[in-house]
Amino acid sequence: MKKFYLIALFIILNSSCFNKVISQTYLSSDQEMVYAIKNVTIISMTENNKVIENATVVIQNKIIQSINGSIPTNAKTIDGTGKWLIPGLIDMHVHTLAEGAPFVIYPTKGPIVSFNTQNIMTPYIANGVTTIFELSARPENIGQRNEIIRGDVIGPRIALAKAIGGKKANLTAKTTSDARNAVRIAKEEGYEFIKAYTWLNEEAFKAVVEEAKNQKMKVVGHIPEVFHEKPAKDFFIPHFSLIAHAEELSKQTNDYSYKKALEFAHLAKENGTWLIPNLTNMVSISKQAKSLESIKKLLGFEYIHPLMQSKWITSNSYYGASDKLIAYYNKLINFHILIVKAFKEIGVPMVAGTDAGISGVVAGFSLHNELKLLVEAGLSNEEALASATRLGAQWLEIDDKIGTIETGKFADLILLDKNPLESISNTRKIFGVFVNGQWIDKNKIETMLSDIEKWNNINKEKYDWKETLRKIREK
Ligand SMILES: [Zn+2]
Repeated sequence: MKKFYLIALFIILNSSCFNKVISQTYLSSDQEMVYAIKNVTIISMTENNKVIENATVVIQNKIIQSINGSIPTNAKTIDGTGKWLIPGLIDMHVHTLAEGAPFVIYPTKGPIVSFNTQNIMTPYIANGVTTIFELSARPENIGQRNEIIRGDVIGPRIALAKAIGGKKANLTAKTTSDARNAVRIAKEEGYEFIKAYTWLNEEAFKAVVEEAKNQKMKVVGHIPEVFHEKPAKDFFIPHFSLIAHAEELSKQTNDYSYKKALEFAHLAKENGTWLIPNLTNMVSISKQAKSLESIKKLLGFEYIHPLMQSKWITSNSYYGASDKLIAYYNKLINFHILIVKAFKEIGVPMVAGTDAGISGVVAGFSLHNELKLLVEAGLSNEEALASATRLGAQWLEIDDKIGTIETGKFADLILLDKNPLESISNTRKIFGVFVNGQWIDKNKIETMLSDIEKWNNINKEKYDWKETLRKIREK
């Protein structure tokens, strides 16, 4: 949520924490491989969600070359009998762990802890998450993306939003002209989107949104705290086009009624503002507040970097909340469900995002939780799938490239053993994933995951969050 400065903190770790990362590559030696998935049921996720039975899909040069066309003689065949093919999933709200050196220790000194990018990206891929939207983008994320594009790492496509208005950034974005400059600098640095953050004042917030429009950069974000209890029409403004979580709306009111949710939905509709409900995160906060056991039981916890495992357990800022606070979290969970219902009723698009990377939210695995929660909140299975495929691609304006299964699009695909239109939890029944045209079958996924687990087990003792913080303070 709002702790990304803490993610940056552990970069200045004592050198005893340094650990050489395992260099491991899972890339197939033949990038030019041609594949044909035969006899599969395609859930295309186009607007009319055309379902095509007994289909043959040919994948070549990273692209879906044909659907029900001829099969090239050199194609490697994948039997899709009794299986379902859906587009790769998009998590529209992540904070991916990345090394970096935001604090000067001495000139030429780089990051003290290095992370293996493959190990950071594998949980996404293992879960069929083939595109992510990084909402606290740093130069290191550009580096990670380069590693993936270069072919050194198998990972998702990464869209980048630069945050303006964090506690630190606010020092440079207090006035409208500073806010505009911050947007222009972000553009120059190569970020594609702007994230408006919590601590912007009203004028700076509006200047960020306006300048982003001038620079043709879409704006996602928080609703700054200054709007607290002000009329909702003040912060719903055109070009502020995606709210990072439903929590942003619930923080602006003490009225948790369906009527209030509808008011938000109407204003969102009028201003072209979409929503990332991010139900996962609030449910996770509530669970962590009550018990740390919920963390250890998280699906995929063993694949989290040991330093973050240590942080989530030994320095969990949600754990130990008062009964009153827990009751408040639960009230918010209920209100967020009403928000989803209201946005659905009014026809405001919602895209799936999870805050993957923050305490209690495991990359990749969390998106399947979100889909389930969206369905429990009232979306149909198909609507939930659309929120994590076509709609995300539309908001990012790459829907001509990904988000649906159509000829000519990039081959980001998940082959499922069971039908997700029957039960949304079937998105977890993954037989294999195509990542940018590369086939990763179940065996390979299991190998990649177990490699992380092994590395984590061997190196666990070297990473202790509290010790790390102590050493940082000593600097
Ligand atoms: Zn976040």
